[in-house]
Parts: sequence; C-alpha cells; structure tokens
Amino acid sequence: MSENNKPYRVLLYYMYVPIDLPEEFASEHLRMCKELDLKGRILVAEEGINGTVSGTIEQTDRYMETMKADPRFAEMVFKIDEADDHAFKKMHVRPRKELVTLRLEDDINPKEVTGQYLSPKEFYEAMQDENTIVIDARNDYEYDLGHFRGAVRPDIKAFRELPQWIKENKEEFADKKILTYCTGGIRCEKFSGWLVKEGFQDVGQLHGGIVTYGKDPEVQGELWDGQCYVFDERISVPVNQKEHVIVGKDFFTGEPCERYVNCANPECNKQIICTEENEHKYLRGCTHECRVHPRNRYVKEHELIDEEVSERLKLIKENMAEVQ
Ligand SMILES: [Zn+2]
Repeated sequence: MSENNKPYRVLLYYMYVPIDLPEEFASEHLRMCKELDLKGRILVAEEGINGTVSGTIEQTDRYMETMKADPRFAEMVFKIDEADDHAFKKMHVRPRKELVTLRLEDDINPKEVTGQYLSPKEFYEAMQDENTIVIDARNDYEYDLGHFRGAVRPDIKAFRELPQWIKENKEEFADKKILTYCTGGIRCEKFSGWLVKEGFQDVGQLHGGIVTYGKDPEVQGELWDGQCYVFDERISVPVNQKEHVIVGKDFFTGEPCERYVNCANPECNKQIICTEENEHKYLRGCTHECRVHPRNRYVKEHELIDEEVSERLKLIKENMAEVQ
C-alpha cells in the first residue's frame, strides 16, 4: 500500500452501462462535480461514462462514494493517482455519441463482444510468448513518449483510423495472439471487441490499462519503456518501477527526451518532444513558418525584440548548414 503523502488525487475511470438521457445526466453531473469543487473532464453517452477528475483526498472520496451509491456505477473501478495539485483548470461534463471515437458502421458493445481481459501478470506473461503481437491502441504521440517493449506502433493520428490500419496490415497479425493496451483500458474494450468481430481468434486486452499495470505490486510496470502520456496537466506519469529507459526523442536533435511542449504557433499547436535548450533555440516552433509566425507565443512570452528573433533564426540556419 502506498502512503498518502500528497494532498490531491487524480481519478481515472469508465464504465460501459446504459445511461438514459445523457444530456440531462451531464448537466446534473456537472452541478454535482462543481459542488464538490472537482476539476476535470467527463464524457457521458448512452453507452456509459468516461472520466478523469482531480481534487483533494476528501473531495475525491466524496465523489467516489456518490458514484457508487448509484446502482449503475456500484461496480466502478477508480484508478487513483496521488498528486500535488489539481490536474485540470476547469470542470467539464460533455454529452457525446460515443465514449471513444471509432465511428464504426457496426458499433461494438463491449458487454457483448470484447477481447479476453488479462490481469497485469497475465499480460506480462503473454507478452513474452514469441507467437504474440502487442498492438498499442493509442495515438502516435502517446506511443512516442513510452510503450511496451516491442509493441507495434500503428501509423495513425487518431483512434478512429485504427480499424482501417489493421485491415491494411492484416497479414502481419494472422495466426498470432494479439494483445492490445491503452491508458486506462476503455479504448481496448471496443478495439479488442472489433478485432474479435473481424475474425481474429486470440485477442487479449490489458485490464485496467497501463496505469493499473504500473501500480501492480507483482509486475511493477516491467517491460514498459518511457513514460505514460496522460490527458491532463501532468502530461505524463511513470510506469516502470524497476527501470527507466527513455524512448522519447527530441524533435530537433533526436537526443533522449521526455518533455512535451506545444508548438508556439497558435495555429499549429503541434505537440513536440523537446529539451528546454532546444525550446529556446528554436523559439518553440516546429517549422520555420511556425517560428516566424506573427503570433508566436514563445516570442511574446519572452518579450523578444525583432533583432533577437533574427539572431536565433540565423543560428538555426548556421546549425543546419553544419549538419548538412
Ligand atoms: Zn508548428
């Protein structure tokens, strides 16, 4: 058992369970969350709920009690991280069509069809079988910061592209045991269900996702390299308690790095992994166009005058000439 040294918590949870009138539910739920002074992001759909919220220990305790008092959510599993502060600035509860956007023609109900649930220990063992292929069910920028050793990185920008990508690469996965994983498990519920429906015979999913795997007292996050990307202000959380292998690479130089920033061009905003040094050097811009954009936020934040900007652009140019 971990000691509760930190004053805040971040909860991550989901449940596929029918919710009537998700719009009314959402506004009522928002009111309740605001009363508790929670912050976070919750999605509500007819198929269920998916949320992540932050608050003090007392606030999050009250939230979990309130949720579990509702028979629909009595079995809800909350993943709990300790934190120094809130992980969000605001509180949103939004009604949606789907909890995770797959937009399948033929939607999957994970309560009817889904991959086999594997505990962290079972997943750890299955991963090491040579007939196993491990598919990361997350986006490329999440994979790039950390992933299971040897896992396949689908070449996709958004989760809804995953089924198409699998179809195009189907022969690679034939006759293999397929394992899927994601942050908290919700994306795999549908994705692994879709794989089963597509005719893949042996499909397993990491129950509780990466965050549960990292806390499991037995496996302790083993075979995970890097950090786990999370969708809140923390940006990433550690997983492997035994060793820390850095797989993230600086966008500009390729050196090992685990620091995500957003491109300073507000019209681009692309997430890039970047050292502090290179952030300054490249004006936090992912391309020349982003660096010289009239609304570059880095230039504004650092109150750079035109001469200073030109000086850095000159240095970048010289640098590039050197590399070539
Ligand atoms: Zn950019």
